Amino acid sequence: MKSTYFTVGPSQIYPTVPEYARQALESDIFSLNHRGAQFQDIYASISRKLKELLSIPEEYAVFFLSSGTEAMERIIENTVEKNSFHIVTGTFGDRFFQTAKEVGRNASQYVVDIEKGFDEHCISVPKDAELIAVTQNDTSTGMQIPMEAVYKIGEQNPNALIAVDTVSSMPYVDIDYSRVDAVFFSVQKGFGMPAGLGVLILSPRAMKKADELHQKGVTLGSYHNFLNLKKYAQKQQTPDTPNVFAIYLLDCVLGDFLQDGIQAIREQTEEKAKLLYDFFAATETFKPLVKDKVYQSQTTLVISVEGGSEQLQKDLKAKGIIVGSGYGEHKNDHIRIANFPAHSRENVELLIEAIQTYQ
Ligand SMILES: *Cc1c(COP(=O)(O)O)cnc(C)c1O
Repeated sequence: MKSTYFTVGPSQIYPTVPEYARQALESDIFSLNHRGAQFQDIYASISRKLKELLSIPEEYAVFFLSSGTEAMERIIENTVEKNSFHIVTGTFGDRFFQTAKEVGRNASQYVVDIEKGFDEHCISVPKDAELIAVTQNDTSTGMQIPMEAVYKIGEQNPNALIAVDTVSSMPYVDIDYSRVDAVFFSVQKGFGMPAGLGVLILSPRAMKKADELHQKGVTLGSYHNFLNLKKYAQKQQTPDTPNVFAIYLLDCVLGDFLQDGIQAIREQTEEKAKLLYDFFAATETFKPLVKDKVYQSQTTLVISVEGGSEQLQKDLKAKGIIVGSGYGEHKNDHIRIANFPAHSRENVELLIEAIQTYQ
């Protein structure tokens, strides 16, 4: 029996991906030359489809990296000379913060109290911050930050660039790209693909900052620095040999998302999230870690399980349903449930039914 994966990444494969993978094999995509015209067409197609799907301004750049984690390091190296500021709502925000320190920047942070929620008025951004890093949806805690709050922080700090980690909320999260500078995601979460590809979307302002740092003699890193990525992207190529297979699949999946329509994807995501949160609210055993609805993730739910989550996970697994463990030290206290486009309403109803029987 094939299982349904509600794990938060890698997750359930998008229903059309097996067929696209077969097509890729049959049409020699695995041997495709990444300096050839066919690859360039695929790169151009992804940029076009992504911009159409997410309403990204034409002048924004789309680069391929290896992962979401890589995007954090590239953003710091290419846009921060000295000071970055991080709004941390969980382990992934902390990773961004640690990355900045690891590459020798002076990073400061505001750690959000998950129980209380997020109040942008409490956050005082240092005046010298060159970059404000936000994890829009932290997969370790299931906390989302409304984009309106991010825009406000941006308005109050017009000199800082805004970087947004959307690894586990894309394509659901609705962003006004004109108000942010770097947005990144990887494909093994909301795009229902195997892991191994990161995508970075950059504003002209972020590119300009990289240019300025380069002029000043700051080292931007090696082959994946923004200037080099841009140089290759201008001819729809990458500096290195990229994950061509994943890039091919991404083009196909984006085609499907466009056909479904982003509005429908967003509405379905919210409907399924509501089913789940309503179900848990009516129980004694299950409590969302994030209490305030405004901050409850629509795409990665983190639920604390009274009495521990281990037995529940085993029980669900026997029924062919895989849910994620809690993150880190909460491995056996929480379950994490992904709600991505690959998860149908029927999948979610079956999950709820299975948890009901377990109870
Ligand atoms: C998974 C995840 C990452 C890391 O992405 P990788 O592609 O695994 O490197 C970063 N941020 C968030 C919010 C994530 O969920």
